[in-house]
Amino acid sequence: MDRTCISSPPFFFFFQRAIHKTFHSTLSINLLYISFITMPDIQLLTRDVNGPNTAPIKPRVERQWNIKAAPAVARSRNPIRETLASITANPPSTSATLINLGLGDPTHYPLAAPPPAATTAVRDALESERSNGYVLGAGTIEARQAVADYHKKWDNVDYTVDSIVLTHGVGHAIDMIFSILCPHGDSKANVLLPRPGFSQYSSLLASFGTDIRYYDCIEEKNWEVDVEMIDSLCDENTKALVIINPSNPCGSNYSRESLQKIVAVAEKNKVVVIADEIYGHMTWDGAFTPLAALSDSVPILTLSGLSKRFLLPGWRFGWICLHDPLSVAGDIKRGMATSGNRFMGPSSLTQKALPEILATPGSWFDEVTAKIETNAKIMYNAIQATPGISTNFPSGALYMLVRIDPKILPQLADDVAFATALYREEAVFALPGICFEAPGYVRLVLGAPADIMSEVAERLRAFCERHARV
Ligand SMILES: *Cc1c(COP(=O)(O)O)cnc(C)c1O
Repeated sequence: MDRTCISSPPFFFFFQRAIHKTFHSTLSINLLYISFITMPDIQLLTRDVNGPNTAPIKPRVERQWNIKAAPAVARSRNPIRETLASITANPPSTSATLINLGLGDPTHYPLAAPPPAATTAVRDALESERSNGYVLGAGTIEARQAVADYHKKWDNVDYTVDSIVLTHGVGHAIDMIFSILCPHGDSKANVLLPRPGFSQYSSLLASFGTDIRYYDCIEEKNWEVDVEMIDSLCDENTKALVIINPSNPCGSNYSRESLQKIVAVAEKNKVVVIADEIYGHMTWDGAFTPLAALSDSVPILTLSGLSKRFLLPGWRFGWICLHDPLSVAGDIKRGMATSGNRFMGPSSLTQKALPEILATPGSWFDEVTAKIETNAKIMYNAIQATPGISTNFPSGALYMLVRIDPKILPQLADDVAFATALYREEAVFALPGICFEAPGYVRLVLGAPADIMSEVAERLRAFCERHARV
């Protein structure tokens, strides 16, 4: 478009009239105007219309560059990335192959191939060339219906399409919920997080300036939630309670009874629950109970996606489902709809393929879960015979949290020291507990093939025997 030509006001007027004549519907005219306004040329045009000569002439002041990030940037830290840099600062002193049990990425080794439908359905969507356009901000109706069907099939919970929004992974879902619930910079607003827990929650909350209150998960009770502590931490400014089940990093799968107690304490305090169920149904020692299935009053925001159970973390695909039996969370629902429009949802190709991906049969998941269970047994049995470390047998997710006994391993009681020495002496990379608010522990990812897990078990035993004070 020639800018000098259409910049003149009479032409612009003529242009508007022409559009009105061509399109007799105001809707299409508005749409046309909106799309023109977002075009850079027309933005210049609207400024030019006023005329550059009408502004008073100011003396020209030499400006200096002065670019500063908002305070939120400094507040937002990622402890995992920071610790990773410090542990790997010096290379291993052994020639043994490096084994990485640090990052919770099931594709690293990989644990298994992704569901076959994921590959074929996305390829079909790509080759059809009919799924390349923008879709609804919250996601296509078909894709959201597929999410509703999935949770009906696996959780026996009914979600309506308008209470579901698709996101760029669960990380984006968490950010979206906090942006709906937590006023920026309001330090009175608080959110309750599990300790040990997944650090992305605290990183995001820090950027909002929201107060973080940790409640304990109790090791002696198989990492069950301390419900009394939740009760004592809630106040009128509590915006949400976060429950991660099955747990990263504990590898625990909460019992139905303890989940019922969580719903009861949320009901008593009238607090919304964020149920991070990205590892939902990835259990082997007892069935998984979805939190929403237990609530007939408390609003539950269920988070899930393709990153863990479907072994597709790089696809950046997740969702939020709102379960609101008493319809008290209408504001959240509206917030979800507007937030969805800010980023126009995840990839149209994955959305198109979603019904087929989510229809993956139970037998495929069983095979993957059986592999994780085998790994859990290998590590658990080895740790029983290793001095200075102990663990609970995990029952879900992809992790094992290992406790360091400071009496037997005094020089390695600090978890960063432990992880650093393990990396240096045995070429095994694992994340120290401080990344999960669990100092004195180390987290192992159970996502490598069984022979590699056995190798880790051997190196771990040699390492602890060498350092143990007997
Ligand atoms: C991995 C993980 C996520 C992140 O999921 P993405 O969909 O990859 O963003 C969320 N919550 C927990 C507890 C996780 O372990």
